Amino acid sequence: MFIPLDVLGFFEDIQPSMYRVFRDSEELLYKNWPTPLVKLDRASIRNRIVWAKLEGFNPWSMSVKDRIGWSMYRKSVEAYGRSKLKLLVESTSTNTGLAIAAMANIYGSKLRAYIPSTVSETGELLLKIFGAEVIRSSKPLTVELIDEVEEVAKREGAIHLNQFYNDANFEVHLRYTAKELELQIREAGIVPKAIIGGLGTSGHISAIALYFKSRFKGIKVYGIVPRAGTAIQGIRRIESGMKWIHHIEIDGVLDISPEEAIQSVLHIVRREGIFIGLSSGAIYTGYKKLVENGVLDEGHYVLIFPDHGYKYVEQIQKYLNANNTNT
Ligand code: PLP
Repeated sequence: MFIPLDVLGFFEDIQPSMYRVFRDSEELLYKNWPTPLVKLDRASIRNRIVWAKLEGFNPWSMSVKDRIGWSMYRKSVEAYGRSKLKLLVESTSTNTGLAIAAMANIYGSKLRAYIPSTVSETGELLLKIFGAEVIRSSKPLTVELIDEVEEVAKREGAIHLNQFYNDANFEVHLRYTAKELELQIREAGIVPKAIIGGLGTSGHISAIALYFKSRFKGIKVYGIVPRAGTAIQGIRRIESGMKWIHHIEIDGVLDISPEEAIQSVLHIVRREGIFIGLSSGAIYTGYKKLVENGVLDEGHYVLIFPDHGYKYVEQIQKYLNANNTNT
């Protein structure tokens, strides 16, 4: 299948503000796109050159999830009218909640975020700082809370945007994230041999896979998940249930442990000066393993780093203390 750009619409919307002047917070989001694509020479191994797309440069949650908070909210306004969006309810591992909370704050709605037990105290605090009401569950996975959140929405007449099933998630990544990346690789003068990213709802990697596999021959896409029995905020095992991943072709899925993810976060910040989140660390570990296993040959590789590292300082501190190392 080939996806012509004109069917994706608003290509011209990818227009960064040259002098960084934004008319409001929403413009700060979408006129800030493309998020940066940065070559990481010091973190590249044996001529397998890494380019990182830094989704932490989104303004609200400092993550890839700002894109879907924005698009799901806007689609919901189109469908129901603004007056219906008084209370929003969502199961979230922090980032989507922050993004929806930002849209809610801009437009005068309220968010009640349902978070699983595995979310850090920092995540919970950030949601509260953004003005969300937070309900912490004893269940470890966001997807385990969906039915409960749906029931609450019905009972209380609230809107459940539902990032796990809402096609506005997949679509915004197809129309923006993926399309941006094509503009950026053209500017860089490269065609990546593979794109590596994390799997949560599977929204962004599925859209990127569909887009690039339809427009470029031979590009591979790898997905990163937490090792069985472990948790890395934002990503989860495929068997826990994902929608869009089943509609695309993926070339491999790698299991990464939280310790490996933290080691890679430290490696990247200490080599490149860029502080990325834990799922990004897991993605870099995935790249390293693919190189070590002889899967990637010389060429260019794009890693989609979903968020910034500031939310994870608690976990990193624990790791540093346990390993008795601050260097
Ligand atoms: N990494 C982080 C930090 C996230 O917050 C998320 C999503 O919540 C992901 C990765 C996965 O993104 P997606 O839901 O598009 O699969």
